[in-house]
Amino acid sequence: MTALLRSAKSLLLLEFVSGLWLTLRYVFRPKATLNYPYEKGPVSPRFRGEHALRRYPNGEERCIACKLCEAVCPAQAITIEAEPRADGSRRTTRYDIDMTKCIYCGLCQEACPVDAIVETPNFEFSVETREELIYTKDKLLANGEKWERAIAANIAADAEYR
Ligand code: SF4
Ligand code: SF4
Repeated sequence: MTALLRSAKSLLLLEFVSGLWLTLRYVFRPKATLNYPYEKGPVSPRFRGEHALRRYPNGEERCIACKLCEAVCPAQAITIEAEPRADGSRRTTRYDIDMTKCIYCGLCQEACPVDAIVETPNFEFSVETREELIYTKDKLLANGEKWERAIAANIAADAEYR
């Protein structure tokens, strides 16, 4: 009986020591978790986040109102209205995206011949009302201005695969 107790005690001690050793090994390894939102992980250049409309460096809108993005969108989330300007160029008068419908497939940006509509690396755009998820042209252009540097870098990084 005493021998049995002694072997049970040694077994417990062994378990304790191996558990402690395992803990110590992980204490000195890099952490597997991030303290979001204070720490953020890397985002792929192909990440499909919040949408934006881009401008050329001279300030002109890239979008030529060809409506390819509207036609290709499987969720029918994009609504475009357009008319010619006095100089004969064609531009949108309305460009809305219903973000409650969008499935972030990326087909709109793939279809765009002038890299006007893009999905930015921004994934932090939660809101409190559905209305705020109806993105207007002004909102999309403002996003483009805010994210242009990251968008251009991502397009350049992915250029050879496009
Ligand atoms: S990402 Fe897809 S679903 Fe969303 S607007 Fe573009 S084409 Fe439509
Ligand atoms: S965003 Fe691109 S695909 Fe869509 S209407 Fe404008 S130019 Fe055409």
